[in-house]
Amino acid sequence: MLKIAVQKSGRLYEDSVKLLKECGIQLNNGHKQLKAVAENFPLEVYFLRDDDIPQYVYDGVADIGIVGENVLLEKAKDIDLVFRLGFGKCRLSIAVPKNMPYQTVADLHGLKIATSYSSILQKYLQENKINAEIHEISGSVEIAPGIGLADAICDLVSSGSTLFTNGLKEVEVIVRSEAVLCANKDLSEENARLLEKLLLRINSVKTAKNNKYIMLNAPNSQLKNIFSLLPGMKSPTVVPLAEAGWSSVQTVVNENDFWEVIEKLKGYDAEGILVLPIEKMIV
Ligand code: ATP
Ligand code: ZN
Repeated sequence: MLKIAVQKSGRLYEDSVKLLKECGIQLNNGHKQLKAVAENFPLEVYFLRDDDIPQYVYDGVADIGIVGENVLLEKAKDIDLVFRLGFGKCRLSIAVPKNMPYQTVADLHGLKIATSYSSILQKYLQENKINAEIHEISGSVEIAPGIGLADAICDLVSSGSTLFTNGLKEVEVIVRSEAVLCANKDLSEENARLLEKLLLRINSVKTAKNNKYIMLNAPNSQLKNIFSLLPGMKSPTVVPLAEAGWSSVQTVVNENDFWEVIEKLKGYDAEGILVLPIEKMIV
């Protein structure tokens, strides 16, 4: 039985549970219990505070966990980062009051910086040879300068709107982060096998999200041009249409190239282009 720790509530909760579901794992009492058991996979899910997850995985209370890379770095436990999951993206940044003149990192000299990430911040200040005071607080870091508790902050940012409403500007990005799957270094043989199985599923969900299935009709005279645009998984599927001289082409396109490919396809007389989401993709 593999034991996974996920955040019990907060920004990573929903995406973590959704990921398990997309991996075909059904939880019997999914909501806000300390523990849930999967009905169709040997998996137990523990719902915990994110800050505790690295320790639990290190101790082996949980075998694996889903946590922000920022927390993993801050806690610095000797556990493996197995997979970057692509959600919960944010950055750990330094912000100062927006009217404070700021040019380089040297401007942080002598400041008092409030943060919940003192270990990452300390390392950053040391690397940049900055002498600043770290004031550790556990939450609502963004209000610290406004109430005179600190001169600057080091906190998580995604859109930047929280900084803006608190009269702050982002001046240095220390770490970019997203949710990651982490694992104990000493898994039993059985659990290592189960983790492999889970990873295959996670990978296929992630790959599927990055790709679209595309179907189109085109005159045979343009097929060569169209194939040059569509690398596909191996090579595109081509089926003749009832109308002589025309074919239906079906393949997979990466989301990053998607719009560019569509525009070019139209240039090669493609018609009736259909784009479908892919649920799972095993390559
Ligand atoms: P817990 O109660 O579990 O301790 P928390 O308040 O520490 O929760 P959340 O605010 O729910 O944590 O954030 C969890 C994770 O979500 C962060 O560690 C980070 O990896 C990620 N995250 C993504 N965007 C943001 C953001 N704008 N602000 C804070 N965290 C973010
Ligand atoms: Zn937390």
